[in-house]
Amino acid sequence: MFVYQGEVSHEWRRRHAIRELKAGRLLYDDVCDADFILRTAAEHHGIDAERDCPVCGEALREVKWVYSEKLGRRTGTARSADEIDRMVQEVGPVTVHFVEVCHSCKWNHLLKEVTAVPVV
Ligand SMILES: [Zn+2]
Repeated sequence: MFVYQGEVSHEWRRRHAIRELKAGRLLYDDVCDADFILRTAAEHHGIDAERDCPVCGEALREVKWVYSEKLGRRTGTARSADEIDRMVQEVGPVTVHFVEVCHSCKWNHLLKEVTAVPVV
């Protein structure tokens, strides 16, 4: 068991990016640049986000990336909630980045950063 604490939301930056894109001040290629690794991670480790892509309207995936010095080479990898649970039990708190990814147009954005903390 673990809980998420200390949420840092990037919702404002996301809305800003969408607004700038629609206003033509950001290029499509600047924000729709999910690389192969990110798209594959979203497909295999992500879950269906219950919202549509703000750029093309297709279904979004949401994927979690974990970061901690204590994770060694596992830091900076995409993980499921179950895997995060096991990691937190093993090494203690880890930082988790929630990223939304569109397979269709490659839109991607960091939604929030949280710390996954074990529940004792
Ligand atoms: Zn899209």
